[in-house]
Amino acid sequence: MPAWTDLLRDIADFPKPGILFKDITPVLADANGFAHAVAAMAAPWRDASLDAVVGVEARGFILGAALARELGVGFVPVRKPGKLPAHTLSLDYGLEYGRDRLEIHADALPTGARVIVIDDVLATGGTLKAAVQLVEQQGAIVIGTGVLVELGFLAARATWDHAAPLHAAAIY
Ligand code: AMP
Repeated sequence: MPAWTDLLRDIADFPKPGILFKDITPVLADANGFAHAVAAMAAPWRDASLDAVVGVEARGFILGAALARELGVGFVPVRKPGKLPAHTLSLDYGLEYGRDRLEIHADALPTGARVIVIDDVLATGGTLKAAVQLVEQQGAIVIGTGVLVELGFLAARATWDHAAPLHAAAIY
């Protein structure tokens, strides 16, 4: 594993008992660690023809915005309900317990825009999948998805049915 992965911190029983939380804040706080983590996320897309990076609230904003700068394209946020000020498109999706909703500005991406969708951690994959669907509803083309950390033991990849590649900078 590359050195920046040593900066990832496991927090047991957060935010509730039984969850092993992957805390990325020590990676972000370290200049070298952050640079190498973003470089690892950028590597698969350096030669891709890309129009924007889409990041999912909230830690997907930090990584997605840094990645957009690294790749020389713009950044588009996918947010929790009620946060975006202009006209939005929204998508309801199922969680392990209950439902949630994601929103994107309806005019954020032109039809046919080629994008990657970014989040920090892939757990069950539900959040990233919903963000991909929302972006596609808007008429953009998802050429790939990326996360800093994939929780491989949750096997989200086994049910990942999107044609575009899913890249994880580190898998646990
Ligand atoms: P999921 O939809 O199950 O793939 O969950 C992904 C979202 O929840 C991401 O936005 C993560 O930030 C967060 N998340 C879920 N599980 C964890 C975990 N064990 N450690 C850190 N973040 C997590």
